Amino acid sequence: MDDGAADLPAPYLSADAGPYWRAAQEDRLVMQLCYGCGSYRFFPGLLCPKCGSDEQVWGPCSGQGTVYSLTMVHRAPNPAFRSIAPYIVALIDLEEGPRMMANIVGADRLETAIGDRVKVCFEARGPEIKVPQFVRVGS
Ligand SMILES: [Zn+2]
Repeated sequence: MDDGAADLPAPYLSADAGPYWRAAQEDRLVMQLCYGCGSYRFFPGLLCPKCGSDEQVWGPCSGQGTVYSLTMVHRAPNPAFRSIAPYIVALIDLEEGPRMMANIVGADRLETAIGDRVKVCFEARGPEIKVPQFVRVGS
């Protein structure tokens, strides 16, 4: 997909989120899965926000979700994003439970509505980083 995304700034890669970014580079979405209560969480952290357990594994996610809310960005927050405006920033409820923020990408992205079904895709930001984004798969 040549939509100018490869020229956007790469995200900051924190140590806690290393497995998340390494999986994304392989086109896989993973999140921390708590041993204590069995819930997935996003963002990564040391303790489970539901039960306080510090034992977790990185578990695979389906990448399927539903748009909970969205906004259309017309005025880019910095010059790097001007080439892709207008674009969609959405909150997505994943099948596994967590809600994550990402862009909706693809030719029909500006038609995104609350409740649309979406699936993850991986957008290259230079040669070594891919960012999980989403595409519409139905309304
Ligand atoms: Zn837990």
